[in-house]
Amino acid sequence: MERREVDAVVVGAGFAGMYMSFALRQRGYDVQGIEAAADVGGTWYWNRYPGARCDIPSLLYQYSWHEEIRTSWRWSEKYATQPEILAYANHCADILGIRPLYRFETRVTAAHWDEAADRWLVDTDKGEFLSARFLVMATGALSVPKEPDFPGLDSFNGPQLVTGRWPHQPVDFKGKRVAVVGTGSSAIQSLPHIAAEAAQVYVFQRTPNFSLPALNAPIPDEEREAFEAMWPMYKASIDAGEAGVELLPEDWEPTDEELAEHVRILWNGGGLVSTVQIPRLTKDERINNAACDFVRSQIRALVNDPVVAEKLCPTSFPISTKRACVDTDYYITFNRDNVTLVDLTEGAIEEVTPRGIRTANAEYEVDMIVWALGFDAMTGALTRVDIRGEEGRPLKDAWYAGPAMWMGMMVAGFPNLFTITGPGSPSVLMNVILAGEHNVEFVQAVVERMRARGQTRVTVDEAAQDAWVAHVRQEAEGTLFPRANSWYMGANIPGKPRVMLPYVGTDYKKRLNAIVAADFPDLRFSA
Ligand code: NAP
Repeated sequence: MERREVDAVVVGAGFAGMYMSFALRQRGYDVQGIEAAADVGGTWYWNRYPGARCDIPSLLYQYSWHEEIRTSWRWSEKYATQPEILAYANHCADILGIRPLYRFETRVTAAHWDEAADRWLVDTDKGEFLSARFLVMATGALSVPKEPDFPGLDSFNGPQLVTGRWPHQPVDFKGKRVAVVGTGSSAIQSLPHIAAEAAQVYVFQRTPNFSLPALNAPIPDEEREAFEAMWPMYKASIDAGEAGVELLPEDWEPTDEELAEHVRILWNGGGLVSTVQIPRLTKDERINNAACDFVRSQIRALVNDPVVAEKLCPTSFPISTKRACVDTDYYITFNRDNVTLVDLTEGAIEEVTPRGIRTANAEYEVDMIVWALGFDAMTGALTRVDIRGEEGRPLKDAWYAGPAMWMGMMVAGFPNLFTITGPGSPSVLMNVILAGEHNVEFVQAVVERMRARGQTRVTVDEAAQDAWVAHVRQEAEGTLFPRANSWYMGANIPGKPRVMLPYVGTDYKKRLNAIVAADFPDLRFSA
């Protein structure tokens, strides 16, 4: 079979994929980008549900590596909307001239390592056959939606929508009875918008979540200027592997009164940045309990019906061990007459009927269903592709007991394969745009080193990988994360191994810098 030879295949045209493709192309590599969507944007292309916004401040949620992009873009609000972030992604694509490098509306179906040629043989669903020296999977941590699999699904008479694959045309909820299933970030952001239009909304909740108020607003000029003034320092700090924002020391030991006062910052509109400003929040039970108590007291103050308020108060996991949500008017939406909370702990969903959803207790008649069930996070986009490494070993088999990988980027036995923000990297626990940049720059350094020495193959040492996997596990065990049935733990997908997927350590970028400085001691290069 005739295969087109390229230097690299980059899968994904989100922020990380675009940067990777651009960086390689700029250095003269022949790059073929592949993207399932019709255009750039990654998660912001797909998640178009009403109310979708970023959950860290927009000024931080942007490329740090490209001065022209940075200075030519002006975010309008503290937390940008999905249309604005997608417009930003398009702005980046225009400046980088990235689109000609991509085949859009195309999926990689298989990638097999060709031992003899030191190349990846990559097939797509459009019948394209490629042979690439390097394969970079920039496929995103949250890109494979968890599909509803309730009995009777197809019998439902109305439209069914999935938040992670929202239609491009506006959805009209006016006068409709709507079921919203799930109470993660996607549901929490969309519910107030749906409830404002619909005749009636039933919110099906299995586990209540902690959500912090966005206090969204236009960005005042003074804030913009202050941010611009601190930019060089911030950029130097993150490049060096520091937090980029001022933090209290890790050994902070507040009195109970000081602690109760400090956790109030969760209500200051800082979103996920506020959670980082509470030292040891995900490690120290006393600190975490104080934060939980504070948020629950806020929920009780916001929700008029005390029974509903209690049902909305999370009690089964420590705050931040599931990613905290950032909302606009989520809790007060339950004060509306047209919103009903259905507590699935009192009776689970048994089936979808032609008229609606039937739980163990009742049938809820609706005209539309919105499924906000989350994602097969971090591994889903990688294991759904038929990736086979040395000796034809499928990645799925290599990861049977959980993702075995080094620095979240490389897998022993899968030479010349890189994953951007993969499992075992901090990715989703930090600003994911920056996390992507750190990985892209590392991959670029590896590829450049190989070109300089005329090498064609790089793999990671198995012992180094084992040590990294053990370290990732050990770091997680020292935290409260394993207590939650979260997607971080793979617990939201039946049958998925229960291991902490992201790396919780805060030294990741420092480690990457040290690895580059030491000339990649854990990697094995060959000509
Ligand atoms: P999620 O946080 O995983 O929430 C999924 C929801 O669906 C949970 O409430 C879950 O309940 C429920 N669910 C799943 N299967 C169910 C079943 N069989 N029956 C009943 N309920 C079921 O998903 P998400 O809301 O899409 O958010 C995922 C992640 O995407 C977020 O944590 C965040 O990282 C990212 N995100 C970010 C933003 C943003 O603000 N920028 C917005 C949306 C998403 P259980 O908790 O009981 O499993």
